[in-house]
Amino acid sequence: MKELIKKLRLAVFLLLGLIILFSLYLAFFSKPEIYGLDSLSKLPRTKEIKLSVSDNVSSIKVDILQNGKRLNLFYRELGKDKNVNFTLKPQDHGVKDGKAKIVVQLKRWNLLTSVFELDTVVDTQPPRVNIIQAPYAVYQGGAGAIRLSVSEPVEIRVRVGEQSFKAFKVNDKVFISIFPVPADTPPNTYVWVFAKDEVGNESRVGTGIRVREFKFKTYTINLDGRELKILRKIEEILGEKVSPEGFVEAFKRINEDIRYKNEKRIRELALKSEAKKLWAGKFLQLKNSKVISLFGEKRNYRYKGKFISSSRHWGYDLASVKNAPVEASNSGKVIFTGYIGIYGNVVMIDHGLGIVSLYAHLAEYRVKEGDEVKKGQIIGITDATGLAFGDHLHFGLLVQGVEVNPIEWWDGKWIERNIQTVF
Ligand SMILES: [Zn+2]
Repeated sequence: MKELIKKLRLAVFLLLGLIILFSLYLAFFSKPEIYGLDSLSKLPRTKEIKLSVSDNVSSIKVDILQNGKRLNLFYRELGKDKNVNFTLKPQDHGVKDGKAKIVVQLKRWNLLTSVFELDTVVDTQPPRVNIIQAPYAVYQGGAGAIRLSVSEPVEIRVRVGEQSFKAFKVNDKVFISIFPVPADTPPNTYVWVFAKDEVGNESRVGTGIRVREFKFKTYTINLDGRELKILRKIEEILGEKVSPEGFVEAFKRINEDIRYKNEKRIRELALKSEAKKLWAGKFLQLKNSKVISLFGEKRNYRYKGKFISSSRHWGYDLASVKNAPVEASNSGKVIFTGYIGIYGNVVMIDHGLGIVSLYAHLAEYRVKEGDEVKKGQIIGITDATGLAFGDHLHFGLLVQGVEVNPIEWWDGKWIERNIQTVF
């Protein structure tokens, strides 16, 4: 019995010993870890560095090795918080542009040191941008084009108010951008070009362009007496029965929620544009047609003496004869045919470099997705599908996913002076 207790006691001591040894091993010998080290692989003029280390790390030291010299960038003793955030400006530490090596030392309990190494590139020079060609004036709801050269590989964005748009590469040093001016951009908004190099240095260059005001029309439309006709359309679009008592609610749903969804879909589709110019010369307007509604119009709807809803019209409505043939307004590639709610049956054609045309309320298509089309080729037949009362074509133009005023693109002189100049 005594022997057994002795043996048990020995076993317990051995087990406790093992646990203590294992804990010591964890504390002293398990390798410390570091996260976010990659953020040190490219160093621009200034960078927010965010690292974190494992719990067993007591201090962190970040050095840089360059041309045989070792310079310290950062040192911190760590308490409970193992997140390490700091702003790094290489020039403040005497670091030069070019290749270098980052050496990070992590200490455990101020005894053992682990070293992490990483190749890095230091580039503190922001890209230089030179505007070669820019339009004299751009208008709300219009478009413009810029040609520019750059000093090093960059990503270019053209900023118009809240939004920014991409540029296409002509070669390593030259970019062009055809950019939209969203219709709700405030007048006098200045257009900027932002260039970001591969390391993350950014520069901003003024274009000299200020957005000019365009007078959009506002209409009030009375729905009294047209309820049944409108209800039939709403039912067609929603694919469900709507009771006459629910007219106002259903109209709001169509004119706001469904319209929002449909426009979002169209804008997303319009971003599928090729990086090359597929169009040439002016865009065609529907043959022998009369303009019945303009781009950018604001429509306020009233019912029983009360305002109930409003919307904006993002194209031109053109009426010709019933079931008139519709021509491709310019050469390009069909990127969509299908039903889009209030727009009814739609064809969308990509003309390249961000420019897409849209043909809505059609009866049928004469083309399919992927078809290459020539300017003037018949692509469909007009009708009144979707939220349309009477046969007409809704023609829209989008630049980089933003609706613009087709009137500019129907004008050969405007294209020559404002777009063609950048090629
Ligand atoms: Zn329309």
